[in-house]
Amino acid sequence: MQKVKIPHKVDPVRAAAKKLDFDGYIPRNLLERLAGVVETVLSDAEVHLSFSVDLQGLTVIEGSAGAAVKCECQRCGSPCELGLSSDFHYTVDEKKARDLGLEDDYDFAEADEFGEVDVYKLIEDELILTVPMVVTHPEGVCEIPDGGVYGKIVTENTEGSPFAVLGKLKKS
Ligand SMILES: [Zn+2]
Repeated sequence: MQKVKIPHKVDPVRAAAKKLDFDGYIPRNLLERLAGVVETVLSDAEVHLSFSVDLQGLTVIEGSAGAAVKCECQRCGSPCELGLSSDFHYTVDEKKARDLGLEDDYDFAEADEFGEVDVYKLIEDELILTVPMVVTHPEGVCEIPDGGVYGKIVTENTEGSPFAVLGKLKKS
């Protein structure tokens, strides 16, 4: 099957009215923020995206995304390949969701002044959030035996990291 580049921006209300589904990809050279968090982005982001109106009448953007990246192993310092994957469930109707007491069931996506959502940004945020705080090879693969600095790195420097900032964004 030929891969299709998914649209960069989508009007979710119109897409939901048509129940649009997208199976495709985001070219890896456009994943610049993800590239800044990992060592190398190895693949395009594979994306499934679906627009609908759910039973509560909320316009929903849901789907999944995955990408292969390379990071530096925090234990032995050599490269470590990693598959990122994320399932997501957004609505653009934040006020309505809050009015219904459903704010915990969704993440919120914002449409711009043209009523469009930046799908690439949303998916890149999702992928960045799935990058582990500490990347290490699986047990037994690492060149250095377990122990050492592993525990220390986890607690250091989480404030102000891109993950912490995104985490806050997502919760707000
Ligand atoms: Zn390692």
